[in-house]
Amino acid sequence: LYRLSRFMSLSPKQEQLFKQASKHIPGGVNSPVRAFNGVGGTPVFIEKAKGAYLYDVDGKRYVDYVGSWGPMILGHAHPDIIQAVQEAAVDGLSFGAPTVHETTLADLICEIMPSIELVRMTNSGTEATMTAIRLARGYTGRDMIVKFEGCYHGHSDSLLVKAGSGMLTMGEPTSKGVPADFAKHTVTLPYNDIEAVKACFAKYGQEIAGVIVEPVAGNMNLVKPIKGFLETIREQCDQYKSVFIIDEVMTGFRVALGGAQAYYNVKPDLTTLGKIIGAGLPVGAFGGKREIMECIAPLGGVYQAGTLSGNPLAMRAGIKMFETLRQPNFYTDLSAKLDQLLQGLQAAADEAGIPFFTQQAGGLFGLYFTDQTEISSFDHILKCDIEAFRKFFHGMLNRGVNLAPSAFEAGFISAAHSDEDIQFTIDMAKQVFAEMQA
Ligand code: PLP
Repeated sequence: LYRLSRFMSLSPKQEQLFKQASKHIPGGVNSPVRAFNGVGGTPVFIEKAKGAYLYDVDGKRYVDYVGSWGPMILGHAHPDIIQAVQEAAVDGLSFGAPTVHETTLADLICEIMPSIELVRMTNSGTEATMTAIRLARGYTGRDMIVKFEGCYHGHSDSLLVKAGSGMLTMGEPTSKGVPADFAKHTVTLPYNDIEAVKACFAKYGQEIAGVIVEPVAGNMNLVKPIKGFLETIREQCDQYKSVFIIDEVMTGFRVALGGAQAYYNVKPDLTTLGKIIGAGLPVGAFGGKREIMECIAPLGGVYQAGTLSGNPLAMRAGIKMFETLRQPNFYTDLSAKLDQLLQGLQAAADEAGIPFFTQQAGGLFGLYFTDQTEISSFDHILKCDIEAFRKFFHGMLNRGVNLAPSAFEAGFISAAHSDEDIQFTIDMAKQVFAEMQA
């Protein structure tokens, strides 16, 4: 921390707010990923956001590459979304009864992701994944779930085993409080290890209810699937009649309009969604094959419910979001913009002689301080230089660029990032790289 201190400059006001927050909020934050445990220092308190920018309580501006951890693909406070939410609010905040907006959003999701025939809304990604695995268990009558090391699927008991995101940042991939009796039904395999998938099915195939995977892993920095990885899971699930769950909470409508399943052309049995479908309001969803989804209450015996599920504000925000996402070239423009950013950062690092590597999937990216030229496993991620990331993070934050406060998180770009924002980011990175060399 001593060596980091010259990279960090904390305003007294921020320090004071954090102290006040910590009085009645555990660790001062309502989600551990917002804490600065992975980088040192205290989190920045945000007052407002607009387009590509966050503004903190001191009025300082940041070009934002977190985007509320994914939902803000159009940028913050997009006027169309705000208008949709305002109009919805005037009509009432929640009814606990069906609305046509739920039908419209369900129809849109099924059209955009054809693997989904029936879809149920939830309030978060965690609820979506938690129910998807309950459904896989209820449908197959089996208990075992297979997941992959470094993947994060929310914080339900069965999925907090060798998990990514905040769990990795805290250095404890399996949560305390998860009963061993639960954890024993979760088998964790190395990401992108095709032989491990085959061996696991050869041994336990008849017991496996389902496999859940991040189709592009965005919770251990960014790791893309190698050729054959997702296809092998599909084949094995077919062979053993297990349910293949693709968790698109992060990748859905970000890697491509149709999600990673369209990008990589694989068809899951169930898909979990969140983040972008609510445009920043709390929402999640799970859906898939009719035969499996018909096991959900009230049609079937697998129970799932929610007082606020299908909330009209979230539905109307999501519907509005899709109008823009479905415009021609939205994703090619977003990818091109990100490519421009990553090329600029790579050139700046190369010039400064800093070992650095980047990867991208649609509007999602990874930055790695390493001389490795292939990043396809959790082990590769563990070999990256976390200390260098911390310096980079604080150097950029000081200069008005907001990155996720952990070396184990992916980055998010939005359609609101302009050429000037990207150039500014590259220019600031040049300064930070120079400082890191000093
Ligand atoms: N699945 C993935 C892939 C995620 O990235 C996340 C959150 O980051 C979740 C599930 C959990 O979603 P939520 O935080 O909305 O509960």
